[in-house]
Amino acid sequence: MLNIDNLHASINEREILKGLSLHVKPGEVHAIMGPNGAGKSTLGNILSGRDGYEVTAGNVSFEGDDLLALEPEERAAAGVFLAFQYPVEIPGVNNTYFLRSALNAQRKARGEEELDSMQFLKLVRQKLAVLHLDDRLLHRGVNEGFSGGEKKRNEIFQLAVLEPKLAILDETDSGLDIDALKSVADGVNALRSPDRAFIVITHYQRLLDYIKPDVVHVLADGRIVQSGGPELALQLEAQGYAWIKDRVAPET
Ligand code: ADP
Ligand code: MG
Ligand code: MG
Repeated sequence: MLNIDNLHASINEREILKGLSLHVKPGEVHAIMGPNGAGKSTLGNILSGRDGYEVTAGNVSFEGDDLLALEPEERAAAGVFLAFQYPVEIPGVNNTYFLRSALNAQRKARGEEELDSMQFLKLVRQKLAVLHLDDRLLHRGVNEGFSGGEKKRNEIFQLAVLEPKLAILDETDSGLDIDALKSVADGVNALRSPDRAFIVITHYQRLLDYIKPDVVHVLADGRIVQSGGPELALQLEAQGYAWIKDRVAPET
């Protein structure tokens, strides 16, 4: 589904990703862990199509297409969930209305019929039930005054409604309480399916107490330096990231 090969990318001429490769098949959940500053968020941002990054080498294909050649909206329509597109606050714009517009824009781009408000409401109710969420966030402005935990719950709700093939979630490390982590985990678990893949970026192992990944990768200094099963996350929890330093010695 997703093939990243030898990706090199820079911010302001400084190389952050230094030959990163990652292969994700449908149905899989991949966790990406690693020390602060390793380039985890950079990877997520580049896959999402965020501005400010220069890809200097390598390629990324999604279902056979060159992902990096697509605009962010085209990536979304192709089925890549762009968590970053929605954290902006849009005071006064109803969250439900906003989400219906996003879904319909994607449907239209795929040549599918748009949903009217009744059809959308039905979909929303189904998804709320699956996720065991209440409808409090729906009637507020988009992310308006949302706490970190509410933003995460909303992100999971968006994910459920948009039904992407590949969801990339960056847990951005700090500020998430255990309830927020659990709702992310419950959401991911409820939305796992044989044709949907997840990339879950996290600094801490504790999220993986609730989401059992198929593959755990350690990203350090812009590269995947180790991959393994869920036990790798436990090893990191026990040993920290210090042992990684041996693996990122500069090539000569
Ligand atoms: P992680 O998510 O693994 O903690 P990031 O991808 O956020 O790491 O950052 C990787 C490196 O890129 C860090 O050294 C960080 O300081 C740098 N970086 C990230 N964003 C920017 C930016 N907008 N401008 C300059 N440097 C940046
Ligand atoms: Mg960080
Ligand atoms: Mg980060």
